[in-house]
Formats: sequence, C-alpha cells, structure tokens
Amino acid sequence: MIRAGGPSRLVPVPTVYDLTREQLTDRLVAWGEPAFRAKQVWSQLWKRAATYDQMSDIPPALREQLAADLPLGVEVLDERTADRGATRKALLRLGGEHAIEAVLMGYRDRVTVCVSSQSGCAMGCTFCATGQMGLKNNLTAGEIAAQAVWARREAARLPASTPQRLSNVVFMGMGEPLANERHVFAAIDRLTDRASFGIGARHITVSTVGLVPGITHLTAAHPQVGLAVSFHAASDELRSSLVPPNDRYPLAVLEEAMAAWRAATHRRPSIEWAMIDRVNDTDEQATLLAPIARRLGAHVNLIPLNPTPGYPVVGSSKGRIRRFVDTLERARVNVTVRDTRGRTIDAACGQLALSASGA
Ligand code: SAH
Ligand code: SF4
Repeated sequence: MIRAGGPSRLVPVPTVYDLTREQLTDRLVAWGEPAFRAKQVWSQLWKRAATYDQMSDIPPALREQLAADLPLGVEVLDERTADRGATRKALLRLGGEHAIEAVLMGYRDRVTVCVSSQSGCAMGCTFCATGQMGLKNNLTAGEIAAQAVWARREAARLPASTPQRLSNVVFMGMGEPLANERHVFAAIDRLTDRASFGIGARHITVSTVGLVPGITHLTAAHPQVGLAVSFHAASDELRSSLVPPNDRYPLAVLEEAMAAWRAATHRRPSIEWAMIDRVNDTDEQATLLAPIARRLGAHVNLIPLNPTPGYPVVGSSKGRIRRFVDTLERARVNVTVRDTRGRTIDAACGQLALSASGA
C-alpha cells in the first residue's frame, strides 16, 4: 500500500494516479531526487500514459523504485478485441483489488473509452448485468482516471480505420457514477487538468440512472461535462419496475433537474433507452416520451438490449425499433439507435462484469 505525502499526510492510496502532484513531488524529494524529476514523472504518467518501463528519460534505478513503491495499480488481466481491432475491452485489476472492465471504441472520427465508476452497482436495474452483481466497491479517483490513462496508451494500437488518439471519456461502464460522486468528480478534475491528463470537459459524458441530487451537484461542479440519463420508460409505474431509483426520483422530479442542467449549461442532455421487447418499445411509451424529450431538447439514444442471464426478456426486433424511431421522429424528437459495438466480446454497456466473475 502506498503512503502518500510527508509524515503528516500518510494517506494510503491504491494507485499512483491517486496522488496529487504535490504528494508525488514530496515523495521523490524524500528519496533525494531533484524536484524537476517529479514533473517529468508526472507528465509521463498522465500526458504520455507511459508505464514505468516506457519512461526512457527517467534513470532506470528511479523507475525501479517507483514501480516498487508507487505502483501504477493497473494490471491488465485479460484483453479482447472485436470489430477488427477497433473495439478493445480490458479486464483491469485496479489498486491490486477491484476487477472491472473498460472498453475502448475507435470510430471513424473519434475514439471513446467507456469507464467504470464502481465495481458492481447497487441500483438494481433489472436488465443490467452490473446491477445483477450488486455493489462491491466504489472506485477511487485514481482508479477511475487510470482507466482513461490505459485507454490513451491502448489507442496507439487501434487500426488505421480510426484515429489513434483518445478523444472522449464516457461514464457508461460498471457502476452508477453519481452514487460515487466524490471520486468521480475528483477523477474529472484530474482528467481535465491541463497539467495532468488534459482532456476537454466537453469530451466527457456522465451517464446516470437519474440520481437527482447528483445531477444538481454535477451541474454546479462540472457544467461543461455532458449528461446522459437512463430513462428506459416514460411512465413512473413502468420505470420503477425497470429502474428502482425511480421510486425516490420520479420522472417529474428528474425532468426538473434535467431542465435546470440544460438552463445552466445550454447543452442538450441525452436520454438513454434500452429497447426491451414489448416492455418499453410500445407506441404508448414512445408517445409519452416524445413531449418530455422535446421539452428538454434532449437527444434520445436507443440501445438494443444486450441479453443478460438474470433477465429473461429479449431485445426489441428491428421492426419494433424502427416503429419506435418513426413515432419519435414524427413528434420531431431527435433520435438515434446506438450501434452494437463489441457484442461478440460482451463489451456492450450492461454486459460488463459477468465475464469478470467467470460467468
Ligand atoms: N449507471 C449508469 C451508467 C452505467 S450503465 C446508468 O445507468 O446510466 C450505461 C448504460 O447501459 C445505461 O444507459 C444503462 O441503462 C445501459 N444498460 C444497462 N444494461 C443494459 C442492457 N442489458 N442492455 C442495454 N443497455 C443496458
Ligand atoms: Fe447500475 Fe446503471 Fe446498471 Fe442501473 S443500469 S444497475 S444504474 S450500472
């Protein structure tokens, strides 16, 4: 376990990415290194996403000491590729403890990493593989940021059909980011800090099940960060049966928080909707969704349901998805159907985690 900072700040942290720049500097100075070394190491860790082995400008003895005393805390346990190498999923052990999954997706014009914010999830959405696991642990800010660092490194291996540079970070992996606000917000701070990872906040999106206080806090703390809200139903009765937190934050309250976010940020929120056969893909639900989406100026993102062992209902047929899209479009709602990236390696949202536990 790493002890960060001087004697008065012996805080244990699970990865080197959990250290502040000052704490890393203190540590290196305590080892007798000149202060500029810490700057070099910091920049290699965050900007170049280098492993200690790759830090050719750092003396080998110091690299060894760093690896021994301040481990990166990111171990790739398994890695699978799909879509001719443009989708890459890794099972990562973070901080020597939590196994989680992160997925890198290369598109023609951008490269996105889907990061996890928790190991498991306590929200209990019935159709979600991560929800079916229950909550194991919150990830720390460093453990979350380390996934983006992994992605920056991994992006160099993407095929020529996509850019080889990470451009976007989405919190759509395992876990509910707004149930782990403190660490998620600190991770966003580090990722957007120009002297650290340095990605624009507008290139980050937080996806939430709809925890209203969290949306309010996100609006205040990170107004540039994008917001996606997982609706899946546009009536409280149906939504509560799919997404249990709806009991605490019903649709009217959720819409109010999203409207406040939109007013403060002048950005379009996204509404996510997993298409479940004859459950939420009906004309009735599309008709209820349309006015909400229009009032919010939201973009509706339909996700073909990924089958999970704990949820027996199947995904909507292409025909039913088409009909749902048509109903929304006729009501002048902006809607797209998400592609089924990484299906063959269980890399799609909602399928993360079960393979990690060997199921
Ligand atoms: N907890 C957050 C973010 C992680 S889930 C949230 O719920 O938004 C990311 C997205 O995947 C959410 O929209 C979620 O509803 C969706 N999802 C979960 N299980 C799914 C499944 N089996 N098929 C399709 N989408 C799913
Ligand atoms: Fe948690 Fe999101 Fe899955 Fe719901 S959909 S259980 S909030 S990860």
